[in-house]
Amino acid sequence: MRRIGNPDRIVIIGGGISGLSSAFYLQREAERQGKEIAITIVDGAPAFGGKINTLQHNGFVIEKGPDSFLARKQAIIDLALELGLEDELTTTNPGAKKTYILHERKLYPMPPGLVLGIPTEIGPFVKTGLLSWGGKLRALLDLALPVRKDNSDESLGGFLERRVGNQVMRRIAEPLLAGIYAGDLKKLSLQATFPQFAAAERKHGSLIRGMMHNRKASASAGALPAVAKGGTFLTFKGGLSTLVKALDEALSKAQRRLGTKVTEIRRNADSSAEAGSMREVSAEGGAGRYEVVLDSGERLQADRIVMTAPAYDAADLLEPLTDCSELRTVNYVSVANVVMAFDKSTFGLDFDGSGFVVPRSEGLHITACTWTSNKWLHTSPDDKVLLRCYVGRSGAEESVKLPDTELIKAVRKDIEETMGIKAVPMFTEITRLPRSMPQYPLGHLTNMKQLRERFERELPGVWITGAAFDGVGLPDCIRQGKEAAQAILK
Ligand SMILES: Cc1cc2nc3c(=O)[nH]c(=O)nc-3n(C[C@H](O)[C@H](O)[C@H](O)COP(=O)(O)OP(=O)(O)OC[C@H]3O[C@@H](n4cnc5c(N)ncnc54)[C@H](O)[C@@H]3O)c2cc1C
Repeated sequence: MRRIGNPDRIVIIGGGISGLSSAFYLQREAERQGKEIAITIVDGAPAFGGKINTLQHNGFVIEKGPDSFLARKQAIIDLALELGLEDELTTTNPGAKKTYILHERKLYPMPPGLVLGIPTEIGPFVKTGLLSWGGKLRALLDLALPVRKDNSDESLGGFLERRVGNQVMRRIAEPLLAGIYAGDLKKLSLQATFPQFAAAERKHGSLIRGMMHNRKASASAGALPAVAKGGTFLTFKGGLSTLVKALDEALSKAQRRLGTKVTEIRRNADSSAEAGSMREVSAEGGAGRYEVVLDSGERLQADRIVMTAPAYDAADLLEPLTDCSELRTVNYVSVANVVMAFDKSTFGLDFDGSGFVVPRSEGLHITACTWTSNKWLHTSPDDKVLLRCYVGRSGAEESVKLPDTELIKAVRKDIEETMGIKAVPMFTEITRLPRSMPQYPLGHLTNMKQLRERFERELPGVWITGAAFDGVGLPDCIRQGKEAAQAILK
């Protein structure tokens, strides 16, 4: 018998940005198609947001996870507009455009025109003190080097080394891109991280020429709201949790199970014959294709499941049902960040930029330091200073595990050595994010395609998505959430 009149029960595992945007677009798309669905979102944490976590404290807006997003990425702009958040958007301080890179304990301004570490303006690039003459010439050789014929995946680091040389890769690109992946560029997939680099080489015969072209093209794109044109990055005046709160409110019809983890997913006995079709059961509200078991003891019946937990959690839950070996190829790096607030009167330094990044070779605990109160004017009272220091990257994750007092001591030593800051913070806020940064290995796109095809055959109705798949940035997670909704309702 068909479950006529009964809504399709969709359980979303994970209430981070991927899970919430899947739910939002499922709800909206189902309404548009006139389909009845019943969504339940389950998250082991006590609140929605996943990695997004804004703390409001004594007039400070402190981000414990992500702090902003790329303004040119349409998916998050569209979502913000759909949620009526346009007036909440804010961009970086126009007076803090400079970013510095540490080299041999000295801060060098990033040469203007660098895009993702690749020079698109030759004049400032040849003048920078960050690289030797040999390093600069090696980078410019990219303009004449032959194009790789083989279209197979290669490592991001290998690609950059091949095109612009080891110095640009290690001294500029790796520390800049570490903010996104905290990764070892030699282990990350080029196709899964920066496919535009490979496309630039293929189309323009040179990475530098290709990036110059892309820069001009994006400058004239212009389908964004006014605030998005003001800077490269955007956030919300009340922090990124604004987006989570708005999604939570918009999900009026979804049920929530917070503070309870999924411990098991079971396939109900008669589900295998029904690949691709709506579930048939014998009674209203009867068994679904799957039973989702929670550690609260509750069992949810699900006709469809959207899995957005990190790859290792997803694999633990789905391996009993089918081969998930591809999920195990995605390693995660642990990171931490230490936010420090100071009284401006005792701080002893005026900022003229947004912060600096630290190459691996400097051997410091910190990988970057954002001058948050100068980069984002809404984050701090006028008479205070807010700094955010990042710790941990692939192959150097020990600092993340230091006890609080030692971690603060190590970070303060680093900021004294790099900026000469001896001031004592008014307060510090430490956030450890164990296994939080997915590392896309070589062949990642093929692996994930293969996994999804197997799921389609063997786990009908289960869609897996999130930061482990096709982009770690918030806009990419939102885009993937939207794609999940479309795939589920197809
Ligand atoms: C320190 C840091 C800084 C970052 N900065 C930026 C930035 O500035 N800009 C940007 O665009 N991106 C940034 N990112 C990346 C971005 O924040 C993440 O990729 C994104 O938030 C991931 O969202 P998600 O929903 O896919 O996963 P998550 O946010 O990890 O959500 C997954 C959820 O699944 C839940 N879960 C796991 N297992 C179970 C289970 N068994 N049962 C129930 N629930 C479960 C978890 O509790 C979690 O809430 C940053 C990431 C980190 C770690």
